[in-house]
Amino acid sequence: MITTYHRPQTLEEALTLLTQPDTVPLGGGTLLSKPTTDSVAVVDLQRLGLDSLRAAGGELQIGATCTLQALLESEHCPAALKTALKLEAPLNIRNAATVAGALVASDGRSTFASMLLAMDAKIEFIENRQSKIVNCGEFILTRPNGLITSITIPLKVKTAFEFVSKTPADKPIVCAALVQWNSGRARLTLGGYGESPLLALDGTEADGLETAARNAYHEANDAWASAEYRMDVAAALSKRCLESLA
Ligand SMILES: Cc1cc2nc3c(=O)[nH]c(=O)nc-3n(C[C@H](O)[C@H](O)[C@H](O)COP(=O)(O)OP(=O)(O)OC[C@H]3O[C@@H](n4cnc5c(N)ncnc54)[C@H](O)[C@@H]3O)c2cc1C
Repeated sequence: MITTYHRPQTLEEALTLLTQPDTVPLGGGTLLSKPTTDSVAVVDLQRLGLDSLRAAGGELQIGATCTLQALLESEHCPAALKTALKLEAPLNIRNAATVAGALVASDGRSTFASMLLAMDAKIEFIENRQSKIVNCGEFILTRPNGLITSITIPLKVKTAFEFVSKTPADKPIVCAALVQWNSGRARLTLGGYGESPLLALDGTEADGLETAARNAYHEANDAWASAEYRMDVAAALSKRCLESLA
């Protein structure tokens, strides 16, 4: 339950407020506003001007408080990321939820985090007053406590996203995201299971994708699907990704 609400006007003010105990950043508030028994103080980031989208030097810098829907509607948003964003949450939630809030709240079923991981997105955040940049893989593994200020994705890449879910609008049981750089480097990630999306392959060529996908999900067993099913689907989706890279 939110018991204290702050709306700082500057980043400096926000950072000072965030040093107080039990105080966390508020993005869109779609998760933080859910009823819980814990008391929490929130620092609303909406006045800090962190919602811009800047395309430069072959990259897109997405401000931390940019909403999922604003990113989806951007001319710079790659088609595969658009598909992943549509599956992340319904329209009303996408209109409020921020990219940073969605990443922090993400689990293995997050299509948005699966795509960010495949794109090797860079996460910029401030921790103990120090600015840091880590790649998405390190971020979702270590889940640092700092204030995210932006997420940067590459634009001069080919991307693909494929998924299987119970209905077209459901969160996928398995999704695969593939990104290929001009150098030939390819990254394949899988989502739909566990605490975080998995990196199945990061190599100089896209050879062995299906085997890598199959191997990555050999223990992906839960109430939604067996590991055997997920291994077969992951292999099929990774093949489809390779065929649909654009
Ligand atoms: C009715 C409803 C339906 C939903 N449906 C779905 C769904 O279908 N699929 C789904 O995946 N999720 C769903 N959600 C969950 C929600 O959409 C996501 O968790 C959302 O993306 C969180 O984004 P936010 O900006 O609203 O985060 P907030 O609620 O503001 O914050 C979430 C977390 O991120 C942290 N945070 C926010 N901004 C920053 C920052 N800049 N730096 C560091 N930490 C930060 C907060 O402190 C908090 O821990 C739903 C929520 C609601 C209320």
